[in-house]
Amino acid sequence: MKRYRVHGVVLGLEEPESELRPKVAKALGLSAGELLDVTLVKRSLDARGRPSWTCNVDAVTQSAVNLKGDIVEMPGLTDAPKRLFNPKKDERVVVIGAGPAGLFCAHRMAEAGLKPILLDRGEPVEIRGRHVSGLMHRGELLEDSNICFGEGGAGTWSDGKLYTRVNDTRVREVLETIVELGGPQQILVEGKPHLGTDRLVALCKAFRARLEAEGCEVRFGAFVSDFELKNGEVSAVILRDGERIECDRVVLAVGHSAREMYRWLAGYGVEMVQKPFAVGFRVEHPQTLINEIQYGKFAKLEGLPTADYRLAANFGKGDAHRGVYSFCMCPGGQVVPSPTQPGGICVNGMSHAARKGLWANSALVVSVKPEDFGSFGDVEGLGDFDGLLDGVAFQREAERRAYEAGGGGFIAPAQKLTDFKAGKPTADIRKTTYKPGVHGTDLTGLYPAFVIEHLKAALENFERTLRGFMTEDAVLIGVETRTSSPVQVVRNERYVSRTIQNLYPVGEGAGYGGGIVSAAIDGLRIAEQILEELE
Ligand code: FAD
Repeated sequence: MKRYRVHGVVLGLEEPESELRPKVAKALGLSAGELLDVTLVKRSLDARGRPSWTCNVDAVTQSAVNLKGDIVEMPGLTDAPKRLFNPKKDERVVVIGAGPAGLFCAHRMAEAGLKPILLDRGEPVEIRGRHVSGLMHRGELLEDSNICFGEGGAGTWSDGKLYTRVNDTRVREVLETIVELGGPQQILVEGKPHLGTDRLVALCKAFRARLEAEGCEVRFGAFVSDFELKNGEVSAVILRDGERIECDRVVLAVGHSAREMYRWLAGYGVEMVQKPFAVGFRVEHPQTLINEIQYGKFAKLEGLPTADYRLAANFGKGDAHRGVYSFCMCPGGQVVPSPTQPGGICVNGMSHAARKGLWANSALVVSVKPEDFGSFGDVEGLGDFDGLLDGVAFQREAERRAYEAGGGGFIAPAQKLTDFKAGKPTADIRKTTYKPGVHGTDLTGLYPAFVIEHLKAALENFERTLRGFMTEDAVLIGVETRTSSPVQVVRNERYVSRTIQNLYPVGEGAGYGGGIVSAAIDGLRIAEQILEELE
């Protein structure tokens, strides 16, 4: 038997998946009956002209066919099996952080027979949900349990986009694990899979049950506040209440908002470097407008996914290059508060599985490099640890200014997109999906001038790409500052810190991987390294 991948099979929106069989048979020069098996591998929407699905399909045939066009012979009848490990030594691995990186890392180790301990400062999702709601509806922030911290990590109250540009066989493993835990099968074939907050919360509970069944100890409300170091290694992690947990290795999966941890790691001389990131605002448009811009006269066709967009503009070259781009677009979603410290606002976006909300939101951000970190002038924290944490100081200052401009209570400063472009404050602002509420103002004072000027310039490009983007109905909400980590904890070819020999920095907080799937992949990678060393 042979297996072939047939690329670019076109399926109309109204056509059932069963129509793929005759189409694939035709492409292979066979009759439909000669195909032993047909599997949809990937489908992506082609919205040029009348929208349709472009599909990649695997077909199993009895005998060889002539290869032509977009047909590739696949090496085996099934995909290569996942590597199995058989660790001979039983070590105590502590994983700090139950976001995607920590969860997948702990799972991979536990399924191979280790008994890792997974610690998170936040709460399990069922309790965390109440805390997130308290922040959204009453402006009450708990510093350990919020949109960034708690079970599932930063991506739990999110759109749950599961696409990544990382090309790694572990992408499939991550998606299959999500399906095993109750996620929809569809994510295995969608070109742009997403889950939505409603599904993510249920998945986190299932993940916890799986980990515990595998022998992993999962603990919440466990804020790691220090390490005990012996001979250049972590011998125990110390919790805020003084509890000491001995360990042989530590996986650091704390996400991009673990600011106090960066400080004490820097205090221990752990090698870290400054890292560029991006800052800006969230923009909210009517979703019907985005659908019309993207799909034109076909916008109302049955079966069309809620439209998304991706925008980018580039200014300057080489060292002077600065990118302005859309980030983490949430179709049919809502803008959410994602601060972790009092007196500072930052925002992000989420949506539900159905993406049926009336509004579309996305970050519009400008790249910020280490040489820009001082551009607010003299702010608290600047210059600490030889400037290592200046990126954090930069983020914090924008968040502080946003909090003040909103008037307190996590009310966010906001401005009509057209007013922002025209340099005019907005007094009268429409209601937005941001639940704590918005205050119409002038956003230009929230960032150094280069951020504002680049954003304004990019809006012209964006309007050329998406005609109608610059509308009176679009509102900018501030500020979006935590697009990725402002530092990277340097690791060597064994993925351990170059300073502490049994500390594995992983995921977004350590500066490796951004986004749910890439953080999860990084977690798997570190687990495999540890398992390999224990074989
Ligand atoms: P995190 O998910 O940040 O997890 C870190 C964990 O460490 C947290 O649970 C935290 O409580 C814990 N922790 C921190 N410090 C300590 C400590 N001292 N002691 C104990 N525990 C600690 N990405 C996508 O790919 N798709 C999306 O649609 C998407 N939407 C997003 C929407 C929102 C609102 C946000 C905030 C992020 C979104 N992201 C999205 C980004 C994505 O969530 C992150 O890239 C991803 O979660 C990073 O995973 P991580 O495991 O590295 O860290």
